[in-house]
Amino acid sequence: MDETLIATINKLQDALAPLGGGSSSPVDLPQITVVGSQSSGKSSVLENIVGRDFLPRGTGIVTRRPLVLQLINKRAAAKSSNDLIQINTTKENGDASENNADEWGEFLHLPNKKFYNFEDIRTEIVRETDAKTGKNLGISPVPINLRIYSPHVLTLTLVDLPGLTKVPVGDQPKDIEKQIRDMIMKFISKPNAIILSVNAANTDLANSDGLKLAREVDPEGSRTIGVLTKVDLMDQGTDVIDILAGRVIPLRFGYVPVINRGQKDIETKKTIRDALEDEKAFFEDHPSYKAKAHYCGTPYLAKKLNGILLHHIKGTLPDIKMRIEHSLKKYQNELSLLGPEMAESPTSIALNMITNFAKDYNGILNGESKELSSQELSGGARISFVFHEIFKNGIGAIDPFDQIKDADIRTIMHNTSGSAPSLFVGTQAFEVLVKQQIHRMEEPSLRCVNLIFDELVRILSQIISQPQYSRYPALKEQLSQYFIQFLREELIPTNTLVTDIIQSEETYVNTAHPDFLKGTQAMAIVEEKFHPKPQVAVDPKTGKPLPPSQQQLQQQQQQQQAKEEGGNGFFGGFFSSKNKKRLQSMEAPPPVLRATGTMSERESMETEVIKLLIASYYNIVQRTVSDVVPKAIMLKLIVKSKENIQKHLLEKLYNSPDLADMVKENELTVQKRKECVKMVEVLTNASEIVSSV
Ligand code: GDP
Ligand code: MG
Repeated sequence: MDETLIATINKLQDALAPLGGGSSSPVDLPQITVVGSQSSGKSSVLENIVGRDFLPRGTGIVTRRPLVLQLINKRAAAKSSNDLIQINTTKENGDASENNADEWGEFLHLPNKKFYNFEDIRTEIVRETDAKTGKNLGISPVPINLRIYSPHVLTLTLVDLPGLTKVPVGDQPKDIEKQIRDMIMKFISKPNAIILSVNAANTDLANSDGLKLAREVDPEGSRTIGVLTKVDLMDQGTDVIDILAGRVIPLRFGYVPVINRGQKDIETKKTIRDALEDEKAFFEDHPSYKAKAHYCGTPYLAKKLNGILLHHIKGTLPDIKMRIEHSLKKYQNELSLLGPEMAESPTSIALNMITNFAKDYNGILNGESKELSSQELSGGARISFVFHEIFKNGIGAIDPFDQIKDADIRTIMHNTSGSAPSLFVGTQAFEVLVKQQIHRMEEPSLRCVNLIFDELVRILSQIISQPQYSRYPALKEQLSQYFIQFLREELIPTNTLVTDIIQSEETYVNTAHPDFLKGTQAMAIVEEKFHPKPQVAVDPKTGKPLPPSQQQLQQQQQQQQAKEEGGNGFFGGFFSSKNKKRLQSMEAPPPVLRATGTMSERESMETEVIKLLIASYYNIVQRTVSDVVPKAIMLKLIVKSKENIQKHLLEKLYNSPDLADMVKENELTVQKRKECVKMVEVLTNASEIVSSV
């Protein structure tokens, strides 16, 4: 069972390998990542764990790409057994240089090729490293996945990373140190990473680069395990007991001291089997370690790593399962939004987009759209705002009397009476004036049409900004052009109807309107204003009421005064007595002839009556216009577009000669779909693997 767990993670690792293991990977699998300074012995530790020579060696940075090393215990994998496996100390184990039928390696990038010769594995690692990094000793974060099947390994997944280096050599990039550091951080910062920090025992642990990095991402030391190499190279009389006892830098998983082959051993081709035996002997004989010798050396390290990994996998599997399902769903959704690859004909793509567009358009106008936001008004609500707030207030803001002055009324009264003085000149003056004011409503009404036009275009942009429209940018562009063109065409009859409404109001002034102030009522109001119920006249000196006879006298005096002041009527000024000479010579009237002089009472009263009538009638028209104009716009522009846009777009787009070009997919969409297809495939695979546990 335990072995299958690790095997499951291994399979997942392979399944997710196409995603590059980087931050783009939606799931982070438990794995053991090896960190340490250059030449601290990382590769040596790995080789000892595997029991075979297979890693490239040399000076400088040899490991330049992450190596994801999956060790699979073949017997265990086959039988799923839980037997304790003796690592490479068994007598039948082959020599490093020998080929063995039950031990081989496989690269993920070379499926179906089994490497029985570990020398060839080394060559392939070098070749594959150079393939991705070039020969200039650069590095690459793209991992090489190597799987080793052997009866002599414990099932484990380890990642070998470039060692921390300080100085670029040759034509290595100047920032090589940072590049390596970033790559290491990418691997060990994942919470599921177990950090195997390799430190040479003959250097100061406090200066260890590997431990320093590990502490950055794992300050508690709860997922870091220390390895002390080169214990054999320590000065006589010194040992690592303090470190092992956790007295220097404590780690939850502790430290394991090991001894790898030294440079000389490698040159003399000392076998790993011999090396492991010497290691065992070293710890068993050493005075400092012999009491705890079974907690030292490579076999113990391998067992410990296996246990830690297993424990970790058990703890994280449910979470991994959930993450896989979650991201699978996410990518499936995205894929279905992107739609299938161009299997449809151009016309059916166009039909689809047009149908959806018409549906969205109607939905937004009717307030049924799913896109409706709670943050702002949209679509139909905005249109309603334009009608009931902006337009109504715009119309309401017209004050007829900011233009009509009493003097104008007088002039018009005279003008409208024409050459034949009429008995009651007011009626015609009223009509002329009120028509002029009604005409003023045309401008805001047409403006309202434009505002609605803008709102409809706004709905267009709202719809086509949805991701599914970005799939065919040219088609989308054409669709919105045809939509706007359609609206523009409809704008003409809409404007005509609106102008007609205002004009019909101008043309016929319906004085029989039931709400219209009756002439007699107006007269009565004005009469009341001009001749309030006779008040008792008061003596200006004493403040006491005058006797009736004197009251009459005063009134007569006042009337007389009024006559003298303006009694000559409209043309009083012009024909005043000072111009007697003109009177006699009967000169032609001046080019501009205005009504001047003080108004007579009758004129004042008539002016007042006209003003009252204008106000009353104007109100009626104002109400009508703010009611009818929106209805007209609704009919001619909004409902019309709702009903006909689909047909219009179909006709236009279907008849486009370059429809086939328009449905070329956006490069980004194609790219995105490829990515999604890959993700869905990989994750489906992963999901199957996980659910088999
Ligand atoms: P890496 O750069 O961290 O991968 O280090 P290597 O594994 O390549 O080792 C660097 C050098 O140190 C090699 O020459 C090894 O032979 C030597 N070395 C590594 N571990 C030990 C050890 O435990 N004892 C001795 N004597 N030499 C070691
Ligand atoms: Mg190395």
